[in-house]
Amino acid sequence: MSSNGLLALALTLVVASLGRSASGADGRLKAIKAAMDRLRPLHARLGKPKPGDWLDQHREPGQTFRQYLACKPVRPTPRRRTIYVQPLGAFSPTQRKIVALTADFMARYFGLPVKTQKDLPLAVIPTRARRVHPTWGDKQILSTYVLDHVLKPSLPADAVACIAFTTSDLWPGRGWNFVFGQASLRERVGVWSIHRNGDPDRSPAHFRLCLLRTLKTATHELGHMFSMQHCTLYECNMCGSNHRAESDRRPLACCPECVAKLWWVTAAEPVARYRRLAAFCKEHGLAPERAFYERSIQALESR
Ligand SMILES: [Zn+2]
Ligand SMILES: [Zn+2]
Repeated sequence: MSSNGLLALALTLVVASLGRSASGADGRLKAIKAAMDRLRPLHARLGKPKPGDWLDQHREPGQTFRQYLACKPVRPTPRRRTIYVQPLGAFSPTQRKIVALTADFMARYFGLPVKTQKDLPLAVIPTRARRVHPTWGDKQILSTYVLDHVLKPSLPADAVACIAFTTSDLWPGRGWNFVFGQASLRERVGVWSIHRNGDPDRSPAHFRLCLLRTLKTATHELGHMFSMQHCTLYECNMCGSNHRAESDRRPLACCPECVAKLWWVTAAEPVARYRRLAAFCKEHGLAPERAFYERSIQALESR
C-alpha cells in the first residue's frame, strides 16, 4: 500500500472512531435526559429563600446539566479514580464509625473506590491557622490552610479527590463565622467537619442524625470537587446552606439536573446506583431517604 493509501486508511479509522464515540455520547445524553424527565415530578422546586438562607445572602446563577457539560468538569480517569479520606484530629469510636460509614456511602454514591488514610493529628495545623471564635468560643482551624498546606502537597497520584474529615470546627477566613465544609472545584481537595453534626453517642436517633448530616456534607463537597456548582432550581443536596436549619431542610438526594451530572461524570447506571444507596439507607435506619430512592427507582422503571 502506498503512503497515501496508508494515510487514507488512517483518516478513515479516525473518522469512524469519532463517529462511534459521538453517537455513543449522543445516545447516553438522550437516555440521561429521558431519566431526568421521569424524576422531575418527585422533586420540589426551590421556593423564595427565607431571611438568612444561602440564596438570601449570596447571588448565584446556578448550573443546569447543559451548563455543566459545557464547563468541562473534573472527572475520574482510568489512572485517577480513587477518593481518599484523610482523618484529621481526635475521633471518638462513634465518630470514627460515622466516618467509615460515610466512606462506604461515598463509594456507592460515586461508584468509585474510597481509601481511608492514616490519621493526622491536629498538631499539623500551626497557631497562625487556628483561632477561638470571638463570640462563640469554639476552637476553629482555617479550612484554606488544610486545603493548601495539608492536602495539596501530599495528594496521591491516583486521587480523583482527597478529603479531610475533621472533628474541629472550621472557618474559611475573614468575614466568616464557620463553614460545614469547603472544597476546591478544580484542585481535587476538600475538607469538612463533623463538629456541628451533633453528638452521635447520645442515642440511636442522634447517631442517625449525625450520620445523615455527615453524608449530606460529604456528598455536597465532593459534588463541588467534580465541578458541580450550587443548585438554585430544586430542593437538592447541592443547594448552598448558610446555617444548620437550612442544611437540615435539604434532602440527601440530588435533583434531576444535579443527579444527571453525577450519572454523566461517573458513567453511572441510574437504577443500579439508586439500589446501592437505598440498600445503605435500609441498613442504617435512614427511612425517608430510603423511601425516596425507592420512589426514584420506580419512576425510572415504570412504563
Ligand atoms: Zn457548597
Ligand atoms: Zn440540584
